[in-house]
Amino acid sequence: MSVNDSRTQHWQALSGEHHLAPFSDYGQLKEKGPRIITRAQGVHLWDSEGQKILDGMAGLWCVAIGYGREELVDAAQRQMRELPYYNLFFQTAHPPALELAHAITEVAPEGMSHVFFTGSGSEGNDTVLRMVRHYWALKGKPQKQTLIGRINGYHGSTVAGASLGGMSGMHAQGGLPIPGIAHIPQPYWYGEGGDMTPEAFGIWAAEQLEQKILELGEDQVAAFIAEPIQGAGGVIIPPDSYWPKIKEILARYDILFVADEVICGFGRTGEWFGSDYYDLKPDLMTIAKGLTSGYIPMGGVIVRDSVAQVLAEGGEFTHGFTYSGHPVAAAVGLENLRILREERIIERARTETAPYLQQRLRELQDHPLVGEVRGLGMLGAIELVKDKATRSRYEGQGVGMICRNFCFANGLVMRAVGDTMIIAPPLVISHEEIDELVEKARRCLDLTLQSLERAIDR
Ligand code: PMP
Repeated sequence: MSVNDSRTQHWQALSGEHHLAPFSDYGQLKEKGPRIITRAQGVHLWDSEGQKILDGMAGLWCVAIGYGREELVDAAQRQMRELPYYNLFFQTAHPPALELAHAITEVAPEGMSHVFFTGSGSEGNDTVLRMVRHYWALKGKPQKQTLIGRINGYHGSTVAGASLGGMSGMHAQGGLPIPGIAHIPQPYWYGEGGDMTPEAFGIWAAEQLEQKILELGEDQVAAFIAEPIQGAGGVIIPPDSYWPKIKEILARYDILFVADEVICGFGRTGEWFGSDYYDLKPDLMTIAKGLTSGYIPMGGVIVRDSVAQVLAEGGEFTHGFTYSGHPVAAAVGLENLRILREERIIERARTETAPYLQQRLRELQDHPLVGEVRGLGMLGAIELVKDKATRSRYEGQGVGMICRNFCFANGLVMRAVGDTMIIAPPLVISHEEIDELVEKARRCLDLTLQSLERAIDR
């Protein structure tokens, strides 16, 4: 047994004995043990066995500028020496949080120049829930309490986050959703559009919002929350007709619009925010992930000035976290934003590398297992099917997980959402690394198909 093997076994034993992992099947984890990731550089990870792996998911959609940027390490170290912690409660503040709030609003859509900091995206959405209800109470409409989210949307794992999201597996545990939250269907044409054209389906899905508002009563509805592109739900890119129709509906009713930009924010679509890409003009935007490139936890809510104005006149907002705007996280966030801006990383993705990624990904469309390849910016999805014409799946065979496991074994992270493979690489991925990603993806699709054929032969 090599030294690496014994270290891996040691860590895997610790996992089994002491660690309750997030979003993991505990039975499977105990049987096989986790893969132990030990270091990273650029767009690559290394595991404890020394295998080099291309990280097609940028961690969990977050490592925008890639791994190993010393500038972020230095920023954290400097801030830890200067002021490792102080809070923003009770009329105190510190320079990094204020400077970061300013820097964020420089890149945010016009008219959104206020930021509330949190420790994560989930806390951001918990903040959203309380903030929009508080806003309506201050406006003299306390009955406007209900938030509308979407089935299969993802807004985090806290009680409010998981309730706003529409993941049935999450609702099944812990008695969710909490009251005061309603859900409408998602704009997932490939999976749910049936015989409709994408355009007609997009209109239908948007109209569900209006129906829900009418059913609940406009005077009861506080806000609609949605990801510009659903990430965890399977990189669901709405038909072109969807967002314009949603905007038209929102303009008719007096409710707030919350864009959850936790994945789309900070360049994933090739624009600073998904709301820029689709011209959404939201009232609030939840942020996290790319804000610090995941080097340190941080989230927040960017708030439109008209909303901030009402809050400003409302006395105390009785809400906040010990780590809201943590100075070390804020210093790292500032440095991350500086790098994104000065190195023009988002512009380069938009004009050079994302178009190349999209072109190369679509070459996989000819693979027998692939029903659809879709993508936008640095996001992609590959639908695995049994029959391309009918879009029917390999029911119950866990094809996505089979493919994901082949990917890991062959040096690529692609995530499986059911039988949809998804990617969201660091924004700094190069042309050569995109070639590596697509070639490895094809090889893993081949291996997946072969394993399915072997299963049928048996
Ligand atoms: N919103 C969206 C759209 C997300 O994708 C996520 C995380 N994947 C969250 C919220 C929750 O963020 P966090 O895990 O930082 O709490």
